Amino acid sequence: MTQQQAVFNQGLISFLQSSPSPAHAVVTMVRQLEEAGYQALNEGDEWHLQAGQGYWLTRGGRSLIAFRLGEQGVAETGVRMMGAHTDSPCLKVKPKAEILRQGCLQLGVEVYGGVLMHPWFDRDLSLAGQVHFRNDAGKLQAALINVEKPLAVIPSLAIHLNRDANKNSEINAQLHLPPVVGLKSSDNPSLVFRKLLASWLGREGYSVDEVIDYDLCFYDTQPPALVGLNEEFISSARLDNLLSCYTGLQAMLAVDTPQAATALLVCNDHEEVGSASAIGAEGPFLESVLRRLAGEEQKYQRMMARSLLISCDNAHAIHPNYADKHDENHGPKINAGPVIKVNANQRYATTSETSALFSSFCDLAGVPYQHFVVRSDMGCGSTIGPIAATKLGVRVVDVGAPQWAMHSIRETAGSKDAWYLGQALQAFISRWDGS
Ligand SMILES: [Zn+2]
Repeated sequence: MTQQQAVFNQGLISFLQSSPSPAHAVVTMVRQLEEAGYQALNEGDEWHLQAGQGYWLTRGGRSLIAFRLGEQGVAETGVRMMGAHTDSPCLKVKPKAEILRQGCLQLGVEVYGGVLMHPWFDRDLSLAGQVHFRNDAGKLQAALINVEKPLAVIPSLAIHLNRDANKNSEINAQLHLPPVVGLKSSDNPSLVFRKLLASWLGREGYSVDEVIDYDLCFYDTQPPALVGLNEEFISSARLDNLLSCYTGLQAMLAVDTPQAATALLVCNDHEEVGSASAIGAEGPFLESVLRRLAGEEQKYQRMMARSLLISCDNAHAIHPNYADKHDENHGPKINAGPVIKVNANQRYATTSETSALFSSFCDLAGVPYQHFVVRSDMGCGSTIGPIAATKLGVRVVDVGAPQWAMHSIRETAGSKDAWYLGQALQAFISRWDGS
């Protein structure tokens, strides 16, 4: 690892650590954008944009768009777009959460997205997300909380009580997942959790009359780490897809000299549940910003015809113990560069043209790249790429850093691949001549 890569990885590790929920990821990204001089925009205001200036806006505090206007008009240059998603599969706390079983206080959880459930057992879990409450003045207020300390565990069943555990061990999400947060106390159990939230908010300096509602996810308190004899790997929760959010953001911030073309980063929530929401990739967020950049229909159409979106979402690296799960010629390797994802059935939006363009950005940046096609006898995952391509009619390439254990609570990626991807994205924004 070079010194530059080490610095980049330390930034990635601290981003992962400070972003236990999509809302936290957006706040962390906004902080970096503001430090770099990007200005806040509100969708409810009239915009007066300046060439060369950077801007950011969010929807719901959970999806983010940042862009830096080019020196030339968007109709002439198109927009150089990078996309990623802020959400990761997790367990979310139900509204009426408290459950008493066998003297244990537990919290009911809803499974968000395609959680790989087994790795969630026997972890020191904490909670983070958004809370809505009524303050002392009787007004509704919102706050982000991150409890940080371990406060829950989902204990495994001992192997002595389930001798088949290593052969087949079905997990019933309703019965087997509610984390244990304590033992029964004298308090009314139906109020325990909201009372706890109120006291956490109080410690943060909020004056809380009553907690009304929340969007909270459990997360693993084990911090991200560099792993391997030579620190070949990064191990963390939420690498899918905070790795891409961070890498896209760093590419935006690294290109801080005036550019002819406008560069844009969109990070959507709700990808893991299909993207169909007001703030998800199937919603109107990106399109409405692009229409405001163009100003009028003719310019919008000309801009879109010249634009390209690089949709960044991690890819499945070939696993040494399960190598037969990959096509023999399309098994992406760790630390061998970003993966161009191809699917003839349009689960990925890559075309031969956009694939060729992305590989030329890698060549410009001097970084390797590889390809992924799922085995012909297996189904294929998807990303925000085909959704954006369908909605906007824009050219899209689906790419991503290779990783193992996608959707586990602890995923593993290479310690070079995010940096390689970032170099290719920078070449796309700053060195592509548009042809
Ligand atoms: Zn993903």
